[in-house]
Amino acid sequence: PFDVLVVGGGPAGAAAAIYAARKGIRTAVVSERFGGQVLDTMSIENFVSVPETEGPKMAAALEQHVRRYDVDVMDLQRAERLLPMGDDGLIALELASGASLKAKTVVLSTGARWRTMDVPGEAEYRNRGVAYCPHCDGPLFKGKRVAVIGGGNSGVEAAIDLAGIVRHVTLLEFEGGLRADEVLQRKLRSLGNVTVITSAQTTQVLGDGSRVEALVYTDRVGGDSHRVELDGVFVQIGLLPNTEWLRGAVELSPRGEIVVDDHGRTSVPGVFAAGDCTTVPYKQIVIAMGEGSRAALAAFDHLIRSSAP
Ligand code: FAD
Repeated sequence: PFDVLVVGGGPAGAAAAIYAARKGIRTAVVSERFGGQVLDTMSIENFVSVPETEGPKMAAALEQHVRRYDVDVMDLQRAERLLPMGDDGLIALELASGASLKAKTVVLSTGARWRTMDVPGEAEYRNRGVAYCPHCDGPLFKGKRVAVIGGGNSGVEAAIDLAGIVRHVTLLEFEGGLRADEVLQRKLRSLGNVTVITSAQTTQVLGDGSRVEALVYTDRVGGDSHRVELDGVFVQIGLLPNTEWLRGAVELSPRGEIVVDDHGRTSVPGVFAAGDCTTVPYKQIVIAMGEGSRAALAAFDHLIRSSAP
């Protein structure tokens, strides 16, 4: 069996694998797509101490760093079931391939995915005007016009955040009113460069073939269609943790995030979690790496306390 079995090969999983392997214990990583969301990112400007890099470059560096150690990397493998400690004292992980792996401890780091609008132009202009993370991409739109899709807390927070950077923000909400906390709505309404449009269903993102130029929405009350000229669209309609397969196995929050404590421990002994799939707020690369490192150290601590010398 493995001492530490990491599920997920994004920044959190890579950090966990490196920290575990450096303890000289048997470590493995199972991932569907090594690199995770970083592979889908164009420029990264907030990875502290690296002023600018590109997603695929960072993903390759993550893998290289992990492979410097004696880590069993099983890429292109999807985990489907986690079975808490059996009679043998081991945790089992079942893969879609039919294989079953056993480990003394597991670090879950399966990340998350942004909910998409699924309208024409959204995928085509992803990273070319269509963005999902205001902390990451906000500064790229300095002095420009953007839209934020979604009037929940994350959408309104994004609009307030972006209003301080960009020239103008149009916030579009599908329902007849915003769903964000009143204090956020009040702050939003106090800003001079934000327009709020409710009952608006975004139907298309338009561009010139290389960059976003506009979006089209339907007024769900009047039924007519409108075009808004802009340079960017921030989609804020939800971040979905990749934890569907863990339902019933570990405690999840109402949003499906794995509930962890300050050591990255889940509700199941020996099972830890880190990164975007957990309840820890602010989904960022540096945060995921820090959490992955912490979860691996906590797993090591668990091992030395629970097994005979
Ligand atoms: P992920 O990166 O999501 O990795 C999850 C891993 O788990 C992947 O390997 C995946 O294949 C695997 N996996 C999932 N389910 C299973 C399963 N069932 N079995 C096996 N493996 C599984 N953050 C920044 O700090 N700066 C930025 O500039 C930035 N820009 C971004 C731009 C975009 C377009 C996106 C989408 C995100 C951006 N982020 C940015 C956020 C950042 O990418 C994430 O916070 C970070 O990648 C989270 O790391 P993670 O390891 O928790 O999860």
